[in-house]
Amino acid sequence: KAAGKGRYAIFGEHMEALLQERRLLETDLRSALNVGDQFLVLYQPVFAIDGVTIVGVEALVRWRHPEKGMIAPDRFIPIAEETGEITRLGEIVLEQACLAALLWDGLVLSVNASAIELSGPEYASMVQQTLKRTCFPAERLEIELTETALMKSDDALMTNVNALRAMGVRIALDDFGIGYSSLARLQKLPVDRLKIDKLFVDDLGADSAAEEFLATIIKLARSKGLSTTAEGMERAEQLDVLRRLGCDCLQGYLLGKPMPADAIGQLISDN
Ligand code: C2E
Ligand code: CA
Ligand code: CA
Ligand code: CA
Repeated sequence: KAAGKGRYAIFGEHMEALLQERRLLETDLRSALNVGDQFLVLYQPVFAIDGVTIVGVEALVRWRHPEKGMIAPDRFIPIAEETGEITRLGEIVLEQACLAALLWDGLVLSVNASAIELSGPEYASMVQQTLKRTCFPAERLEIELTETALMKSDDALMTNVNALRAMGVRIALDDFGIGYSSLARLQKLPVDRLKIDKLFVDDLGADSAAEEFLATIIKLARSKGLSTTAEGMERAEQLDVLRRLGCDCLQGYLLGKPMPADAIGQLISDN
């Protein structure tokens, strides 16, 4: 019993430390967003199914904290979503990414947006203004939205999605496969691309059930005129299967990790 109590005390202390850490990050995030220059956008190359030709880049944000160093998005995006500051962060990332990608002729720029951002009534017009200001063509921009976000089918979110598509911006369904949207439902969603979650790509080569699942998704996507991108490809044997199944694009550490603008610029010009 005493040991149980001790564990409880340790758990309590741990919780307290976590909360403290969170409050500090929250304060720092607010001031960082006022200035904006602590946010670094990295770019991960997206390849055609040949595994050689770069067809696009995905913008992935990092927070360069003055004392704590580089902070991954999974640690601060949820905070920014709770405080509503995600809207400001989204603008900073989009502007930085459009300016960088202007130099990468013809490539598609993919930018992540959270459901909170897309539920804001001003989202589509913020995108339009940013495109105008940076002279980035709408046809080269793709906004990634998670499957679970789109499933909520919030009115404001749907209005934004339709407005973006009317402007020529494409919509990708991110982390596809883990949100359990029915295949019937998928047919009605206003999207242009499915990004198949790493979870389903991981088992390829070893597991025939994983392969069957992917074959079904890719076939359906094709019949609906949607493109597919496989996420998180780490092994060469996955590439063989994805190619055989008719997947369109590939993304993963095997082919290229997220990297700074100058490094991806070099990679693109050598491609
Ligand atoms: P995501 O959009 O699903 O992005 C893919 C994540 O998987 C990235 O992590 C990427 O670095 C990682 N990844 C790519 N290939 C591989 C691989 O082969 N193996 C493994 N293990 N991982 C791989 P990252 O950069 O830490 O981003 C995490 C999540 O944070 C993103 O997941 C996205 O949901 C969110 N995020 C990143 N940038 C932004 C942003 O600007 N706005 C919003 N709203 N969310 C963002
Ligand atoms: Ca994404
Ligand atoms: Ca994803
Ligand atoms: Ca993810």
